[in-house]
Amino acid sequence: MEEKMKAALNYDKALLQSKELYQYILDTSVYPNEPEPLKELREVSASHPSYWMGTAPDAGQLMGILLKLINAKRTIEIGVFTGYSLLLTALTIPEDGKIIAIDVDCEAYEMGFPVIKKAGVEHKVDFIKSEALRALDDLMANLDDEGSFDFAFVDADKINYLNYHERLMKLVKVGGLVIYDNTLWRGSVAMPEDAVGEKYKEGRKLLIEFNNLLANDARVQICHASIGDGMTICRRLH
Ligand code: SAH
Ligand code: CA
Repeated sequence: MEEKMKAALNYDKALLQSKELYQYILDTSVYPNEPEPLKELREVSASHPSYWMGTAPDAGQLMGILLKLINAKRTIEIGVFTGYSLLLTALTIPEDGKIIAIDVDCEAYEMGFPVIKKAGVEHKVDFIKSEALRALDDLMANLDDEGSFDFAFVDADKINYLNYHERLMKLVKVGGLVIYDNTLWRGSVAMPEDAVGEKYKEGRKLLIEFNNLLANDARVQICHASIGDGMTICRRLH
């Protein structure tokens, strides 16, 4: 049990079999192509006590290619932290694109903001300091916003993932994408409950429930990508 838990929880940001393999991917394909502002943002974020919350650069690379493939212009981000996924989105969408970026806290965002500003993309960002559920309900109140978003990235409190999903199935257009982050919860979703450390138990339960619901939701086509801490990519079908 102990060994199994260690194996799944030990590797920073990677669900791969070995640290070496993860390092190989970063060194070969990710770091050489990571835009300079994103590197800078990672450096700035490194001094934050919760630095590990930032999106992993390989997962960011997947997001970047998906955003391009669907020509995303209007996006929603739930859970900004210092802004890695936000800056990545801002650098990827067109000049007149818009990101509604929601976080209940803005302290971490203030740390990353100078890098976003320096990168010249802050005009694409509408930061809303609020509980995400409230901000989404405000958006829903405006009928013009219904079906008007191409993409959403959900990376905040896991307890509300289902509530976010219900709202995003209205705000994101048919054919649009929603990505849910941390859906493998460090691999704990596949472990027996007693093999999981206290710290992971609640999240494990929430994510198991959420993953099951998504897999049975006829409104979306899904792909569970084992990248970062697990990302579930959903395409709205109707
Ligand atoms: N996407 C970010 C990481 C987000 S970490 C990156 O790439 O760096 C999770 C964030 O969700 C934290 O900043 C936290 O303040 C925010 N959060 C947690 N609960 C929330 C809630 N109920 N509403 C809005 N934001 C929330
Ligand atoms: Ca995350």
